[in-house]
Amino acid sequence: MKIRVLGCYGGQLLGFHLTSFLVNDTVLLDAGSPTEVLTLEEQSKIRHIFLSHTHLDHIKDIAFLADNRAIKRVSQAVATYPITIHSLQQNLSTLSQHFLNDVVWPDFTKIPNQEEGILRMQSFEAEQMLCIEGLEITPIEVNHPVPCTGFLLNQDGAQVIFTADTGHTDRIWEVANQQPNLKAVIIDCSFPNSHEKLAHISGHLTPKGMAKELKKLDKLGSVSIYLYHMKPEVLTEMASEVEAENIPHLRMLTQVDELVIEI
Ligand SMILES: [Zn+2]
Ligand SMILES: [Zn+2]
Repeated sequence: MKIRVLGCYGGQLLGFHLTSFLVNDTVLLDAGSPTEVLTLEEQSKIRHIFLSHTHLDHIKDIAFLADNRAIKRVSQAVATYPITIHSLQQNLSTLSQHFLNDVVWPDFTKIPNQEEGILRMQSFEAEQMLCIEGLEITPIEVNHPVPCTGFLLNQDGAQVIFTADTGHTDRIWEVANQQPNLKAVIIDCSFPNSHEKLAHISGHLTPKGMAKELKKLDKLGSVSIYLYHMKPEVLTEMASEVEAENIPHLRMLTQVDELVIEI
């Protein structure tokens, strides 16, 4: 399994991209930044978006990805794949009502026509495994102010957990502890310790909160831990707080990372 980090920050600043991970070139986990990072050629390979939740920093580039693909289809008259957005039904309804609603942005599920829309929507249920492009993906509900799922990824007997945006939560750690060959965890770490109250209200973690969450992980010490969703403005402050927690095999992601997960 190859996970390319396109964006791993919880804020957008010059040089810092919003959350988006490209798995095996064709599957996106969240869509905060793919059109800022990928060439048109790379964008054209994307077949699926697994969407954790509908906050803008995770959906923004659905708009521009669809637009780019529509232009490619129309102007170059080439066959292009539709992009299927997978999420909880509530999240898909939110996208339709408030984002791809022909007011904020065109409804690309009906462009160029209803039968061959650039975008498709497919709802999933939490803890129902989906097999997509040789990858098994299981959404797991986490703790955020809007409906949100993290994801368990499994390919060729190796597993990865992506918590998505979350505050303190339990179920995803229970699932993580059931995995026979868990290789990596990508976990929320958004605010410095001084912002604990804000982190709690907004459903995120600080370095202290993240360390507390990781105590629930049985295999801590033998699994790679990657932090994401850091606020770029306070990255330096957070880095020293993260270091003080002294957690083995842990580091903050950067958006040029490519994680190759093997058995
Ligand atoms: Zn969020
Ligand atoms: Zn976010």
